[in-house]
Amino acid sequence: MITIDGSEGEGGGQVVRNACALSLVTGTPVRIENVRARRSKPGLMRQHVTAIEAACTVGNACCEGLSVGSSELTFQPGHVVPGEYRFSVGTAGSTGLVLQTVLMPLILADKPSRLVLEGGTHNMLAPPFDFIARVFLPIINRMGPRVEARLIRHGFYPRGGGRIEVDINPAPLAPIDCIERGALLERSACAYFAGLPFDIADREIKAAQKGLGWSDRECFVRELPEDQGPGNILLLEARFEHCTEIVSGFGELGVPADRVAKRAVGRMVGYLDSEAFAGPYLADQLLLPFALVGGCSFTTVKPSQHSFTASDVIAQFLGRRCAFTPQQDGSHLMEI
Ligand code: ATP
Repeated sequence: MITIDGSEGEGGGQVVRNACALSLVTGTPVRIENVRARRSKPGLMRQHVTAIEAACTVGNACCEGLSVGSSELTFQPGHVVPGEYRFSVGTAGSTGLVLQTVLMPLILADKPSRLVLEGGTHNMLAPPFDFIARVFLPIINRMGPRVEARLIRHGFYPRGGGRIEVDINPAPLAPIDCIERGALLERSACAYFAGLPFDIADREIKAAQKGLGWSDRECFVRELPEDQGPGNILLLEARFEHCTEIVSGFGELGVPADRVAKRAVGRMVGYLDSEAFAGPYLADQLLLPFALVGGCSFTTVKPSQHSFTASDVIAQFLGRRCAFTPQQDGSHLMEI
């Protein structure tokens, strides 16, 4: 059994999700101590419990210590069974993070699966649906499998109630290199809002347009059905020949709309100014699939603490380390 100290590195929920996924894929039991010890409310939260429950269900695993607030967890993997599954995060917890936990075990299974995931679809500090569908999954699909995600209903914090469906068609995974973005094909900035005043999204998009200098045609506001709110998200998207980056800004109570936009613009400008393939979030999310295949590489802007922590967890299970090498242009090359 592998023992992981959940307080090391980033010390958040990603350690737990990656450890459960790796445990299912390798068949190695794992014990995680000091779960999320670096967070203000340590221990498992509802969304982590749902993600681990999902891993237990698809992988016939047994788990001790699986409850909200728990800071120690023992995960004993079983056999992964592909099929149709529905998982509901009782709160607005992120559906994307539940997907992060079970995707690779199901991709490596021998038959297709269909997932219905209910909860939040556009959460702060988690990959929004659009990021999963247009940034992350196209890269996974380049490795061989066919994974398609559909957004059925938006779910925003705190109300949740969103729904996504994911079809997973496994195929042998091939190593890939993600170094060049290729030419810029399209860019857009969209402020979505539901059940909130139009003015919030309008101020957001105006501030974003001013900061980015993009045309009227590229910047717009879109209203979602009122019953999918209240919620607001600003999505800045740049589509290149070989990759797409989506930067998100989340409307928060007490944070002015133009500040939300400015933060997101700063991150998009940073990405566009570099030549790296993967932004910081895509980078930490690619480590697990790339490590499972081996022989893969990508360039990224600057490795985050999440990436280093994911790399440590991967090394414990697979005995392989992700190497990050600084490049002359300021980007970093990740090889495994
Ligand atoms: P905790 O509350 O412990 O931080 P968590 O489970 O919510 O736990 P993290 O461990 O911080 O979260 O992991 C968050 C994951 O969501 C990471 O894989 C990160 O790349 C991804 N992520 C966060 N924000 C975004 C974003 N704006 N776009 C895309 N992905 C994101």
